[in-house]
Amino acid sequence: MERVTVPTIELNDGNSIPQLGFGVFRVEPVETERIVSDALEVGYRHIDTAAVYGNEEGVGRAIAASGIPREELFITTKLWNADQGAESAPSAIDASLERLGLDHVDLYLIHWPRPDRDLYVETWRAMEQMKADGKTRSIGVSNFTVDHLQRVIDESDTVPAVNQVELHPAFSQSALRTFARQQGIHIESWGPLGQGKYDLFGMPAVAEAAEAHGVSPAQVVIRWHLQNGLIVFPKTNSRDRMAQNFDVFGFELSDDEVNAIDRLDEGKRVGADPEVDFF
Ligand code: NDP
Repeated sequence: MERVTVPTIELNDGNSIPQLGFGVFRVEPVETERIVSDALEVGYRHIDTAAVYGNEEGVGRAIAASGIPREELFITTKLWNADQGAESAPSAIDASLERLGLDHVDLYLIHWPRPDRDLYVETWRAMEQMKADGKTRSIGVSNFTVDHLQRVIDESDTVPAVNQVELHPAFSQSALRTFARQQGIHIESWGPLGQGKYDLFGMPAVAEAAEAHGVSPAQVVIRWHLQNGLIVFPKTNSRDRMAQNFDVFGFELSDDEVNAIDRLDEGKRVGADPEVDFF
């Protein structure tokens, strides 16, 4: 079978990221090597993990066992909240690299802004140095609002390459997306399938498009992210669903279908609010 070529997006620092990847939030550490190995066999080359997921070692073992050349992979990990600050951040990336068994990652993110601690700007400056040192090829942020992004832009020399935020049809973040587009920041959608926390797949705009194209509702939602220019990495423990979520390049939603899913926005989060939920 010919391997699917996933489209890439060029980031504001000139690096490229595969637009579709595989996320490993809530993948148990003991299962991670097997599940990521399955994902790499299915064809995924972009893996999204984080120090706090506790599964970087499993991701690293799957990468090592795969024999896939390093330059064909795109690996993202994230700096956990407790490690923010100029002192702690450099050792946090070293520890992640050690667990992953890599000498660099492709993208390193500040996981949450934690505005109550007010360390994210100095953490960002430390990340600029990590990029200069070659420990990560690109740097970005996660769960940042427009205000957090604006401060980082105003108080540093680097515009984040990406902002990874909760984004799915019922919470589609249109104001943040507009701001990001103006600044050259790409948006990555976390919880792209709504984490299964509401009946997204039963909503007529999704179910009808699935019926029309002879695909699953999950495939329709992944296409909606891709056709909106978003970077997306759905998570699943099931190899069948991994294959299904990767098989999204043989059909295209019409403008009407995309617009109908756009109209499902209710401003309804399924996860934490970066302004008020601190952990
Ligand atoms: P998703 O929206 O990807 O949903 C995952 C859920 O959907 C799982 O319950 C999975 O079940 C189910 N699922 C996956 N594929 C299908 C399918 N084809 N049909 C039916 N059900 C399906 O949620 P995530 O929170 O995992 O988000 C994706 C990634 O985003 C994470 O893994 C992580 O990398 C990142 N993330 C980042 C955050 C941040 O703060 N930066 C926060 C949360 C996530 P099953 O496994 O049983 O198939």
